[in-house]
Amino acid sequence: MTSQADGDQIVLAGSIDETAKLADLVHRATAGRLVLDLSGVTFINSLGVRDLIRLQAAAQQARIAVELRRVSEPIVHQLNMIIATRGNATVVSFFAPYACDACGREESLLIDALAYGKQLARLEPPPMKCPECGAQMAFNDFPERYFSFLTNS
Ligand SMILES: [Zn+2]
Repeated sequence: MTSQADGDQIVLAGSIDETAKLADLVHRATAGRLVLDLSGVTFINSLGVRDLIRLQAAAQQARIAVELRRVSEPIVHQLNMIIATRGNATVVSFFAPYACDACGREESLLIDALAYGKQLARLEPPPMKCPECGAQMAFNDFPERYFSFLTNS
């Protein structure tokens, strides 16, 4: 895994495992805030998940507000399976699978969790246009499963 500072956020990329030392990121919080961009995270193993839970617990204890941006699909699955991986973090935006019936394109699209907050709480996928042909795309997972991390806060 790589972690690179970019403005007010830290951009994580690659695989998160025991070598990622995720929990240490709590020391890189500034002004009581830790902002993580997770768009480049492709995989997380069970030790990485354990570290993510440690990070969330340490942040809660230190009263650091964790903000997760552009959360990749593998991390969304963890947030849904293990509530502790989310801690008190605010998920600002995340990727979700969509498919186009018209042209067959499948794509992971970014959803603004704040702008679509009410709709997502009702487990309704936001409408998305196909980048290929412009047709309306269909959400390509079960909303009650994929969006559950947004409803148990
Ligand atoms: Zn299309």
